[in-house]
Amino acid sequence: MRMSKMHIKTLREAPNDAKIPSHILLVRAGMIRQLVSGVYGFMPFGWRSVRKIEEIVRQEMDAAGAQEIHMSAIQPKELWEESNRWGAYGPELWRVKDRNGREFCLGPTHEEIFTDIVRNDVTSHKQLPLMLYQIQTKYRDEARPRFGLMRSREFIMKDCYSFDKDEAGLDESYKIMYDAYSKVFTRCGLSFRPVEADTGAIGGSNSHEFTALSEVGESEIAYCTSCDMAATTERAECVDAEPDESPMLELEKVNTPGTKTIEEVSEFLGVKAEQTLKALLFVTYDDEGKENGYVAAFVRGDRELNMTKLVNALDIPEHAIEFADEEKMGKLTGCVGGFTGPVGLHDCKIVVDSEIPNLKNLVAGANEKDYHYKNVNYGRDYEADIVTDLKTLLEGDKCPCCGAPVAHARGIEVGQVFKLGTKYSKAMGALYKDENQQDHEIVMGCYGIGVTRTLAAVVEQHHDENGIIWPMSVAPYHVIITVMKPEDEVQAALTDDLERMLQAGGAEVLVDDRKERPGVKFKDADLIGIPVQVTVGRGAVDGKVEVKFRGEGEKEELDLDTAFIKVISKVNREK
Ligand code: ATP
Ligand code: MG
Repeated sequence: MRMSKMHIKTLREAPNDAKIPSHILLVRAGMIRQLVSGVYGFMPFGWRSVRKIEEIVRQEMDAAGAQEIHMSAIQPKELWEESNRWGAYGPELWRVKDRNGREFCLGPTHEEIFTDIVRNDVTSHKQLPLMLYQIQTKYRDEARPRFGLMRSREFIMKDCYSFDKDEAGLDESYKIMYDAYSKVFTRCGLSFRPVEADTGAIGGSNSHEFTALSEVGESEIAYCTSCDMAATTERAECVDAEPDESPMLELEKVNTPGTKTIEEVSEFLGVKAEQTLKALLFVTYDDEGKENGYVAAFVRGDRELNMTKLVNALDIPEHAIEFADEEKMGKLTGCVGGFTGPVGLHDCKIVVDSEIPNLKNLVAGANEKDYHYKNVNYGRDYEADIVTDLKTLLEGDKCPCCGAPVAHARGIEVGQVFKLGTKYSKAMGALYKDENQQDHEIVMGCYGIGVTRTLAAVVEQHHDENGIIWPMSVAPYHVIITVMKPEDEVQAALTDDLERMLQAGGAEVLVDDRKERPGVKFKDADLIGIPVQVTVGRGAVDGKVEVKFRGEGEKEELDLDTAFIKVISKVNREK
């Protein structure tokens, strides 16, 4: 491909809203183009890389025995009502109406559609197991679209669904997909880690996220410094404090003027944060968005409340809870901002972390301005509606599997696999008959890869200050030949020869034959990040070219045949 004939526009400066390298570089290299917030189009180079990732995904899905289909992005409300998700999915669901007022959504995911197909088409155990997938555009009206392709409102996802007779079958399908995902991300050149994950709005029991390690990632993972434990911090289990066997002391109200935070009160009373109880107050909403109650959550003073665990304990969607207006909540429940404790609190759901009943004689707010209680004890002084693990596994905490210290890392969630079980088949009546004509619910799994987010993650892991350094497997082209003087006949002829040889050898070749200054061309070549850079210049009269691999080593002057062998072997080894 001749760059002089291509539609390309690279930029010197990134737009102001671009904060992270992948967003900056994909825009500057002219690969993506923003239409409105969170909605991007793909320009020639960007689209070629998207298609390369799609092809890797397709090959691995096919090899795993999944069959590709293609469903519409438009999904009727009725199917989402059957699964009970029309309300539960919340404002992220992009809702539209047709001219007759019938309601639809633009699919954020396709569990309902695939379950519908299978409930109509599958009747017998002989048709199972079955795996179907698609590579398709998804819509999520994200609250905070940002970071370019990383969190957009329209994005390309590969979604696959498995249908099995029983849990054992699901375990097998899940394993097959898990392995296929590892192959996909390895082939894309990502350094990644599968970690245990929460199941979120998709539902189900068991799940792993595939996380591309990156400082700018929005997923936080906790991993053990000694064993294999690795999980998102949303999901990671925590070890409760050992039971305190000391006797319960008498409840005592103490004046603690102006001590609203844990630090202030523990300093004022001369106790450790571990001896205090931290209160967090929330209001919850129903499916119509109306307030429907208050929640007070309590964790030990030095712990961090884990919102995902709280939401799961309450069995409500993530968007149905917010911090409460303390004054408004106080009128009904008796809480007092900064001085809230569980003793005497009423008309709200009290949710207490699982280790709290183990602890004795804690300091907690007295629900009265400038007062705390000392010696608050669970069971004697108050009880909870729910007692469950509510805390976040922090760095240095004990690993729930082996007790060694835990470390944290950040990453980009590029894929997730879920064991759905019978959540959708039960709700939507997807059944099969066994050998004895008995009906059973089909056992399902679902498996997503963010294709466009993967593209961004690759750039995040493969760039330097000058631009992108594509891994060969997903590069828009394998080789760029930069011709210093395209009008020079010798240089032009050598370029043509090399281009032909490389193409015949299986390489995708880009030729920069633009009438630009060499400096501009070299800058663009680095920015666009084609992995092999060949320069045809003055040496052409002696049949010599310069070869350099993007991101490594120095330019090397070689004669045409040696250059060809060096380049083509690299391309074919890595593509
Ligand atoms: P997140 O937690 O980042 O919002 P999710 O867990 O809601 O993602 P899934 O429902 O598991 O996402 O979707 C499957 C895959 O689709 C994700 O692993 C991710 O790679 C991709 N994805 C999800 N949301 C977006 C988005 N807004 N923009 C780009 N890719 C996305
Ligand atoms: Mg996910």
